[in-house]
Amino acid sequence: MRNGSLWRRLVGVDQAVVEAVRFEEESEALVVSVRCRCSTQGRCGVCERRCPGYDQGEGRRRWRALDAGTLKTFVEAPAPRVRCPEHGVVVASVPWARHGAGHTRAFDDMVAWLATNTSRSAVCQLVRIAWRTVGVICERVVADARALSDPLEGLVRIGIDEISYRRGHKYLTVVVDHDTGRLVWAAPGRRLRTLDRFFRLLGEERARRIRLISADAAEWIAKVVARHCPKAALCLDPFHLVRWATRALDEVRKQTWRTARREGNRQLANESHRSRFALWKNPADLTPRQAATLASIARTNERLYRAYLLKEEFRQVFTLRGPDAVALLDEWIAWAQRCRIGPFIELARLIRQHRAGIVATLTYGLSNGLIESINTRIRLLTRIAFGFRSPEALIALAMLKTGGYCPPLPGRQAVRAHG
Ligand SMILES: [Zn+2]
Repeated sequence: MRNGSLWRRLVGVDQAVVEAVRFEEESEALVVSVRCRCSTQGRCGVCERRCPGYDQGEGRRRWRALDAGTLKTFVEAPAPRVRCPEHGVVVASVPWARHGAGHTRAFDDMVAWLATNTSRSAVCQLVRIAWRTVGVICERVVADARALSDPLEGLVRIGIDEISYRRGHKYLTVVVDHDTGRLVWAAPGRRLRTLDRFFRLLGEERARRIRLISADAAEWIAKVVARHCPKAALCLDPFHLVRWATRALDEVRKQTWRTARREGNRQLANESHRSRFALWKNPADLTPRQAATLASIARTNERLYRAYLLKEEFRQVFTLRGPDAVALLDEWIAWAQRCRIGPFIELARLIRQHRAGIVATLTYGLSNGLIESINTRIRLLTRIAFGFRSPEALIALAMLKTGGYCPPLPGRQAVRAHG
């Protein structure tokens, strides 16, 4: 192997001509001087169209490249400008880096892979860049991948959800593809206008092909869906519905606690205070101690225990499918309506109001596990992503992790082209 091609492979600048390599004392870095091959010269940095030259720009530029062993390595090359009929005067494209980037493609891809597969501190220490820069690189890599293939193609069954990503009511609206299990779109905000942007991007034609949409019972979602996909079935998300029941139960628990305290019934007050998690959990997940608390409530507080059974039976509805599930739902509504427990009478009213959406869920049997698992993963990311400058960087990291956009490590074949 000749020196030039060895250096090209080593630093990850395949399509360049290596002119010189030197060690720079003051920065303790390796500097590899390269130039573009003729065929890639004089192209617009944005659209890659061949354009007339304009000037030499700001002279030679540097891009951080893959380390050579322990040495930081830079690629150095002229960065002339061209005049593109569409994009005006822009820096000419170089084959080894994305437009406007200060790092080579190989470097970007490695950082994106590390951000997807390792911890925040591992990435920063290994590649010696700030976490914010990691965020910017993730955005660049994802934008590039999404430009290559349309991520909104072929959607039939989608889920829409909102995720809080920072305290102070900062939300993302996310759309997942139920058939591939991937996050396909996300944007900051949770309003009619936010979701409207998704459907405008999708376009009328493709919106018409969507058959099923799962979401929570938010009115703004129903409105946008009715406007863009009048034929799609809107299925209410069991996760959110069960959460309503859990909240109603917690309200009953608090009422019990307050009453017991007022009446000086210390045992009941303590018990209802301690029982929070025992009441929340699925019976199968209870610890022996929580099971004992629950058994004690069954003996001492009939009202709170009945509320618990109402929550449990409501949860049971979603373990069934089809007519059996709908029958159990209607039985539940009838029971809750006459249970004489305020929060559950209120819940029964709410459930009746949304019955069509719930029946759709039970009929089409859309599993909620998928959207939940994506949401759980994105919520975890929101913690890691703290320190990113923008929600866009968080979205990019989520796309890498759950959208199938993580690139292979430089120099390796993709294990799966898009996964
Ligand atoms: Zn152009």
